[in-house]
Amino acid sequence: MKFRNKLIKEILERYKTIDSIQRLCALAAWDLNTYMPQKAAEDRGLILGKAEVLIKKLILDKDFIKLINKAEKEKNLNDYEKAVVRVLKRRIKILSKLPDKFIEEFNDITNKAQIVWKRAKENNNFKEFSPYLEKIVNLTRKQADYLGYKEHPYDALIDLYEEGWTTKDFENFFEKIKDNLKKIFEDIKNSKNYIEKHPLENEKYDKENMEKLNYEILKILNFDNTRSRLDIAPHPFEESISLNDVRITTWYHEKDFRRSLTATIHEFGHSLYELNIDPELRFTPLQRGVSYGVHESQSRFWENIIGRNVVFLNRIWPICKKYLPFLKKYKFYDFVIYLNIVRPEYIRVESDEVTYHFHIILRFEIEKMFLEGRLKIKEAPEFWNENLKLYLGIKPKNYKEGILQDIHWSMGAIGYFPTYSLGTFLSGIWLEKINEKIGDISKILGKKDGIILIQNWLKENIHRYGSTYTPKELIYKIYKKEFDPTPYFNYLKAKYSKIYKI
Ligand code: MG
Repeated sequence: MKFRNKLIKEILERYKTIDSIQRLCALAAWDLNTYMPQKAAEDRGLILGKAEVLIKKLILDKDFIKLINKAEKEKNLNDYEKAVVRVLKRRIKILSKLPDKFIEEFNDITNKAQIVWKRAKENNNFKEFSPYLEKIVNLTRKQADYLGYKEHPYDALIDLYEEGWTTKDFENFFEKIKDNLKKIFEDIKNSKNYIEKHPLENEKYDKENMEKLNYEILKILNFDNTRSRLDIAPHPFEESISLNDVRITTWYHEKDFRRSLTATIHEFGHSLYELNIDPELRFTPLQRGVSYGVHESQSRFWENIIGRNVVFLNRIWPICKKYLPFLKKYKFYDFVIYLNIVRPEYIRVESDEVTYHFHIILRFEIEKMFLEGRLKIKEAPEFWNENLKLYLGIKPKNYKEGILQDIHWSMGAIGYFPTYSLGTFLSGIWLEKINEKIGDISKILGKKDGIILIQNWLKENIHRYGSTYTPKELIYKIYKKEFDPTPYFNYLKAKYSKIYKI
């Protein structure tokens, strides 16, 4: 039994109500982002807003806080019990420091900003969006002041997405990876096998067949359709509604089936984390992936390390040919390159494992400068374009493929982007440990029960704990060292030296 302490048990009993409302909100949000009639969006927004106020009220209830403070002083709490206190105190801190008026204003501005951003992107007009971006930057700076920080206002925002991580941590991380990534990218560009366009990108596919293919791939990945489901959404996502109801979505386009395939595997990776949380943590504050970075380390692990692995691709090659008959014109090697193409790209979400991080570093630098007041909103597009050119040698020709491409800023999510790179590099650490503990991943993937072996390792070492350990604690527990980008580089070098013969 994980929870023995009387006070903790009392806290958890009360928390069940809060958790239930949150899970219903998750269901309502899933519906909002999938099949809900378009005109219901405004009502749904109001309903979710009211529910959020109720959740806040329940968490900031004086007796509830007293109980948590009392439990904190208890001796002999185990790791799970301590984590309940840690996670709840964090929520209380965030909710109590932000005044209601601020939350209302933030919601109001970001709701409007998302609509304006969408239109501005369609019209390729930055000026339309810039007054909102200005307001959002000012609001997030205020938010940082309310939340408090030691060194940099950005610290307070980053911590919302990656508990315990600071601006300095990410500066050090990005400083360490920049040159190495550039070197790998240059080597690939100079390789004989380098290509900028792949013919498979233009192959049109049948959506129904693609859907069947996605299900076949999920079957290989042991997708549990009694606890999960796959749906369609304009932007793929995963939503955890309860321990036995974790839903994923994917998308379909006219052509370039890679986008649908990799999105499906990516979201599957997120869902596996939530589905594998220890059932004893059900209805507790610990029943949730611990951070955005750790979550992304799961999705990226499945999308890239498994989903683009040559042995895995070899396994799915016959099924892909069955559902996508145009593949019969191609060789297996073409399929491998198509899924592992490295080249400069304007759009972050379309980028490969190597160049992706320059998109993140660029956003990180801009966000930091915004908060410091060192970069004016109107100067940002030019800064964006110049720096992308510096990193990748390409300069966006318009705002759509430049500064207006991502939804995040319109949502007020400043501090979110860096977790994408962190997650990707974390997946390299998990890979190194798997290679060490159960054997070379490519060999494991060649075995019949290989995927199960990998999933068991992830479950045992990461998934089952939910939010029990902070991201830094979790990394240390598994890696016995602090976070280090080296394992991911080892993975990139080993892989691309084979594919591109570098
Ligand atoms: Mg993701």
